[in-house]
Amino acid sequence: MEFHSLGLSGELLQAVKKQGYTSPTPIQAKSIPAIIKGKDLMGGAQTGTGKTAAFALPILHNLSGKKRKNKNPRALVLTPTRELAAQVGKSFLDYGAELPLKTQIVFGGVKINPQISTLRRGCDILVATPGRLLDHLAQETISMKDLEVLVLDEADRMLDMGFIRDIRRILKFLPPRRQNLFFSATYSSEIRTLAEDILHNPVSVEVAARNKAADRVEQFSTRIPRDQKLHLLTHLIKSNSWYQVLVFSRTKHGADRLSKKLNRSDIPSGAIHGDKRQNTRVRTLEEFRTGKLQVLVATDVAARGIHLEELGHVVNFDLPQVAEDYIHRIGRTGRAGKSGQAVSFISPEESDKWKAIERLQKDPVKNLDLNGFVPVIQEAPARGGQPQTGRSSGNQGNHGSRRTGSGDNRQRRSRPPRNRRSAGSSNSTGSFGRGSKSGASSGSSKQ
Ligand code: AMP
Repeated sequence: MEFHSLGLSGELLQAVKKQGYTSPTPIQAKSIPAIIKGKDLMGGAQTGTGKTAAFALPILHNLSGKKRKNKNPRALVLTPTRELAAQVGKSFLDYGAELPLKTQIVFGGVKINPQISTLRRGCDILVATPGRLLDHLAQETISMKDLEVLVLDEADRMLDMGFIRDIRRILKFLPPRRQNLFFSATYSSEIRTLAEDILHNPVSVEVAARNKAADRVEQFSTRIPRDQKLHLLTHLIKSNSWYQVLVFSRTKHGADRLSKKLNRSDIPSGAIHGDKRQNTRVRTLEEFRTGKLQVLVATDVAARGIHLEELGHVVNFDLPQVAEDYIHRIGRTGRAGKSGQAVSFISPEESDKWKAIERLQKDPVKNLDLNGFVPVIQEAPARGGQPQTGRSSGNQGNHGSRRTGSGDNRQRRSRPPRNRRSAGSSNSTGSFGRGSKSGASSGSSKQ
């Protein structure tokens, strides 16, 4: 299949070529002709499938066929997060660089007044997050009365993030006659209800089996006590010279702490999550993108919309709360024809979460080879302030005795305890890191 057989204009074919795309991805091949014809579309597409171009290219094609009559947008793309809004907006700008169309992006977390002045100048395409769009609609700084196309991107995530009421309120501002494009990687009954309410005789395009992880992602997992996770992560990054590693933390606080600890181990890293200011998030992402940061620690919500061609490794430091997030997470790598690896750390407390993930996605997950990883024994101070374990660390092999902690919480690299072949043994928790009563050791990864 070639791009020129999809019916796109010469300018768009040029733009696609400039991006280095040689042939359309399956979702593009199926969606572009249907969207050009004006059909509603239900797109079941996981991340990394090229779904943004699947709707952006035909929208640009259709809008460039006729001129805007006034300042009101003709296409609205709703996205769950600011990062995704910025990314989708950039795609419209890139693909539409040679077209006389204007794209604007609005999201929350930044001042509204500059957005109001920009919106006053008018646009053809508006990419927005639901909350901020509602603010503009309420203040009448934007009108949707000339809207022709609505896109709900990553609709499942918008619902997960509690945007359902905002979306329904926004729908009331839109003209009833319009084209609707609905993209979701997963389908809950709530998603289906919303889709049925919005779409009219949609063309259904599904490019991968539902709830299936991206094909090019090689998946690994290992059973590991919680307090060994940081050490294993550090070991994997250093011994494999990983760069551009996206690490998922369950909580915002945990993300900050993990990032700090990695920095202390000389692994440049930053954290992004919902409590960070927009400017900080953008700066951290940029530093990660340009290689200044080797590791980005993120929460699920913040990581949505991160698009990095070179991202080679995703680490589930904590397993996700919701099994479907596993698919979103690992879909951050293995994008656009590139292969990637996803590694999951499963602590004994997370066994049930892992079972739910295994039930949801049937792709093979290999056992992570822990070759060379030596669990760190944490010594607890005895009553008199002396280490309690009395364990000799004499047999440290090549791993030395580099300290990663301080004071009484110092740690030593040591051989795995007898009868424990590796930290991956799920019944091995009793032997690892139980010693520290202070709970303040640098090895603790409690979230
Ligand atoms: P998306 O699924 O929209 O997030 O796209 C994932 C990545 O695929 C983006 O970095 C796009 O630049 C890239 N991409 C989109 N379409 C193609 C294509 N036809 N060939 C190669 N890469 C593509």
